[in-house]
Amino acid sequence: MSVSIPSATPVWLAAQTAALGSAHGAGRMPHALLIHESPGTGGEWLATWTAALVLCERGKAAPCGSCTACRRVAAGTHPDVLWLRPLEDSRQIRIEQVRELSAELALTSHGGGYKVGVIAPADALNRFAANALLKTLEEPPPRTLLILVASEPSRLPPTVLSRCQRVRIRAPARAESVAWLTAVRGKADWDAALDTLGEAPMQLAQTDPVELAAVGADTRSTLDALAAGRTDPVAAAERWARTQLPLRLLCFENWLTERIRSGERSGALLAELRPAPYLSEAPAFLNIRELFGLVDEVRDLRATLDVPLNRGVALEALFRRIVPAGGVRNGVQG
Ligand SMILES: [Zn+2]
Repeated sequence: MSVSIPSATPVWLAAQTAALGSAHGAGRMPHALLIHESPGTGGEWLATWTAALVLCERGKAAPCGSCTACRRVAAGTHPDVLWLRPLEDSRQIRIEQVRELSAELALTSHGGGYKVGVIAPADALNRFAANALLKTLEEPPPRTLLILVASEPSRLPPTVLSRCQRVRIRAPARAESVAWLTAVRGKADWDAALDTLGEAPMQLAQTDPVELAAVGADTRSTLDALAAGRTDPVAAAERWARTQLPLRLLCFENWLTERIRSGERSGALLAELRPAPYLSEAPAFLNIRELFGLVDEVRDLRATLDVPLNRGVALEALFRRIVPAGGVRNGVQG
């Protein structure tokens, strides 16, 4: 589903929309923005809002949300808004794609106004593509707006970063996420859903909260059982590979991140927020570095889900790293 613009401006983006609106109203819109977000907190939403802002037929400090231009931008069909994403079979944005975008931006706009290029995620630009983008950043055609959305901008060359005005999106507070999700999607156990996916309300707005909660609970209990040596990694990997794998991997990442956070808070690795009897026996075999390494590998697996590979085997290898050194304890029920 798409989230309507601008009626559902999330409260945690209010400062950003106000600043961009007043810059545009005063004729001071920069020609390049870098939106730095935590994944799922609204980087693409803000990019869409800003594209609507500069193309709206009525609004000055905010898009009206109802003119033809606003509706087309929200629907992703405005001819003067060009989205650049990794191609289907790739995790990278390539130089040819950037060259195409630059050539398109150099043409006169269809509507006689702005042309907007949105690169998301911009941290997917490979080195050559980022260098090719520099030329457009250095000598932008008039009435051009480039919007880069990135959760890890440090992956971009400093020459690109220095030419963009940075807009930082802070992670929303739990109450803000729940209020916004309730407003756009209706009542549901959003708290449980956020526990599962992490603080990524924009991503959540596109999933079914009931299904998510069920998959999330199942995924966590499998991981807890693996970490306690109470379940078999081979069987668990086979089961995960069969159903809801992308969602499960997201939960896996969140499960690891929680462990990193709780370890940082208490100083004890693998400490749990909820008291659970088996955790007293859990060995500190997962140090912080190991956990961060696992997060990277889960992300890699998520990013390559389209590529033919034996997912079961890849998952099993990951699971084996969270199983205690003694392996699965015989006779212990999961
Ligand atoms: Zn409008």
